[in-house]
Amino acid sequence: MLDAKHYVNAAELRPLLCALAQLTGDRSLIDKRFAVRVDRESIALPTNGGLAGETLEEARRRATEALHSYLANIDTGNPPPEPDARGSRIEIDELISFLTGDDPAASPGMMRAQLGMDEVAATWRQQDIAPQRKLRIGIIGAGQSGLAMARALQIAGVDFVIFERQESVGGVWVSNIYPGCRLDTNNLSYSYSHFQKSDWRHHFTTGGELWEYYQDFAATNDITPRIRFGTEVESATFQEDSATWKLITRNLKGGVPEQESVDVLISAVGVLTTPKVPDFKGRDSFQGRVMHSAEWDSTIELKNKRVAVIGTGASAFQIVPAIAESVKSLAVFQRSGPWMLPTPLYHEEIATEHRELMSLLPGYHKWLRLWDFWITTIGKYELTKADPDWRSSESVSEPNQRFRDALVDHIRKQYPAHPELLEHVVPKYPVGAKRMLRDNGSWARALQQDNVDLVTDGVGHIDERGIHTAKGDYHQVDVIIYSTGFTATDFLGTVDVKGRGGQSLSKYWGDDARAYNTVAIPGFPNLFCIGGPNTGLVAVGSQTIMTECVVRYVDELIRIMVADNLRSLEPSEEALDRFSRWVDEGNLAMAWGAADENSWYRNRSGKVTVSWPFTLETFWNMCQSVNRADWIEESGEGTP
Ligand code: NAP
Repeated sequence: MLDAKHYVNAAELRPLLCALAQLTGDRSLIDKRFAVRVDRESIALPTNGGLAGETLEEARRRATEALHSYLANIDTGNPPPEPDARGSRIEIDELISFLTGDDPAASPGMMRAQLGMDEVAATWRQQDIAPQRKLRIGIIGAGQSGLAMARALQIAGVDFVIFERQESVGGVWVSNIYPGCRLDTNNLSYSYSHFQKSDWRHHFTTGGELWEYYQDFAATNDITPRIRFGTEVESATFQEDSATWKLITRNLKGGVPEQESVDVLISAVGVLTTPKVPDFKGRDSFQGRVMHSAEWDSTIELKNKRVAVIGTGASAFQIVPAIAESVKSLAVFQRSGPWMLPTPLYHEEIATEHRELMSLLPGYHKWLRLWDFWITTIGKYELTKADPDWRSSESVSEPNQRFRDALVDHIRKQYPAHPELLEHVVPKYPVGAKRMLRDNGSWARALQQDNVDLVTDGVGHIDERGIHTAKGDYHQVDVIIYSTGFTATDFLGTVDVKGRGGQSLSKYWGDDARAYNTVAIPGFPNLFCIGGPNTGLVAVGSQTIMTECVVRYVDELIRIMVADNLRSLEPSEEALDRFSRWVDEGNLAMAWGAADENSWYRNRSGKVTVSWPFTLETFWNMCQSVNRADWIEESGEGTP
C-alpha cells in the first residue's frame, strides 16, 4: 500500500474531500474555501477542483492527514462497507452543496439520486406495486435503456419480456466493434447511478469493457432470462377492444412469425441502429470489400490494403487513428470536420493508485462519479446558447466565438508538419452545431501520416476499383468503410406501429417525430418511448441520465395505470402541441438549431427532432411527476 500523499495526488480532490468528510464527520475538510464554483463559461475542464496556490496546498494537506489516519485505523484487507445516506456523519445535502460550490442550479433531488447512496432519492422507487392489476409489459431492445427499464419493472414487481434482435445485451455496444471503439463520455457518468463500478480500467472505456458491464448488469439483476434474443418485433398493433398491443415477432434464425400480446409496449430501440449509407453514384459497382462502421466485418483484411473511410464523425474519428498505421494507404473523405474538446486522458488508463484508492476508501468512487456527473451536467451549455443578435456564420454568440478561438488555437499547435491541413481541419460551422468529439492529438497525428490523405473535394462517383472525387481526382482502393452515421431521425422506424383506428405511426409522424415529454404519442395508447424524439444531448451530460429520467417517468405512468385500474393512457394532442412548441423554440435558441449546418439531429426539412434543448435539471424536473391533466385516461381493466 502506498502512503496517503500518493493517493491524494492521484485523486480528484473535491470528491475525495467529500468522501473523507462523510467518513470522519470532520467539517473542516469541506471548508467553503475548498469549494470553488465551476465556471460555466470556462473552456477548460476544472483541474484540482478549481483550486490553486496555497489553498490547493492546504486542501491537499488536510486530505492527506485525514486519509492517513483513516488508512492507519482500518483493516485494508477488509474495509468498512460503502456509506449510505442514513449512516452519513454529515448530511448528504451539505456534502453535495460543497461538491457543487453551492451552485443554486444543482437540483438536490437529482444530485442525491445520482450519488446512488440514498434509497429515498433513488432513480426509481423500491416498493413493489400492489398487484391490483396484473400488467404484462413488452420492451423492445436490450440496450442501455431497455435494461434500465427492465430493472425498474423488476423492482416494481411487474411482469415483462424483452425482445432483442441481437444475440446479446448492450445495444450499440454489441453492434459497434470497429477498431478504436470506445466511449467519448467519461465512464463514470455513462454508467448507471444504480449500478456503479469502481474498477474501470480507462477513463473512457473501450466498447468491449462496456459490453461486459451491461452483461454483468443483466446477469446480476437476473434480467437475462427475461430476454428473447435473436427476436425482432416486426409489427405492433393496438387492439381497441382489449386495450392491448398485438405484436408480431420473428426469430431471426429462420423462425416463423409469432403473435404476442402485451398491455404496455415500451420502445427502447435507440436511434443509432440503422446504418445510413449514402446513395453515391456507382456505389454498388465497387468490386472491393465494403462495410459500414456499425456492421464491422473482422474477416476483411485491412493490413497493407488501400482503404477509404467516408465520413469524419464520432465513429470515423475513432477508426482512422486505430487503423492508420497498419493500412497501406488511407483516404479519409471529409465533408465537414469535427470540433473536438481537448481531452488528454482520452486513451489513458486510470492510474493504479487512483484505482486502488477507489477500492480502499468507501464511497469515494460514488463521489467521484457525482463530480464527473456534475461537470458534464454543466457541460458546454452556456457556450452553445445562440444570441439572436449575433451575426456570424462561424459562431452563435460572443462566448461561443471565444470558445471557437480557444479551440482553433489548440488545433493549430497540432499541425506543425502539415499547416496546409489547417484550412480543412478547422470547422467552418459554430462549435456546438454538431456533437463535439475528444481531442488527445491522435486525430491530428493520423491525418499527418505519410500514407494518409484527407480528401475534402467530396465523393463524385464510385466505380469498380475506387472513388472519384467531385473535382476529378481518383482514389483506387481495396476497401471502403462507410462511417456515414445512422438514420437517426426515423424513430421506431424498424417496427410497423399502428395505433387507434389502425393509424400508422410512421404516417402520423411523417418526417417530424414528436412525443409528449419525449415519451408518448396521442392515438397510440400504452406506448412509451425511452430515447424518443428530443432526448439527444449535444453539449451536456451523458445519455444515461436521460434514460434514467425517462425510466422513472414511465415507471410512474405504469404505477398510475395499476393504482387507478386504467385500461389505457395517452397524452392529449393539445399537450403534445404545447410540448413541441416549447422544445422547438428551445432548439432554435441553441447552436445546433440556430446554425445553418446539417447534422443527424435534424430531419430532412432541417428541423431538430433529436436533441433536447434545455438543461439536464429541466429534463430531470419534467420527469419527476406526471401531470395528469395532460393525459387521456380510460378506466377499466383491459382483457389481455
Ligand atoms: P455521424 O456523427 O453522423 O457522422 C457521419 C459522418 O459521415 C459525418 O462526417 C458526415 O458528414 C459524413 N457523411 C454523411 N453522409 C455523407 C455523404 N453523403 N457524403 C459525405 N459524407 C457524409 O455518424 P457516426 O460517426 O457513426 O456517429 C453517430 C453518433 O453515434 C455520434 O454522434 C455519437 O452520438 C454516437 N457514437 C458514439 C461513440 C462513442 O461514444 N464512442 C462512437 C461512435 C458513435 P457531415 O458531418 O458533413 O454531415
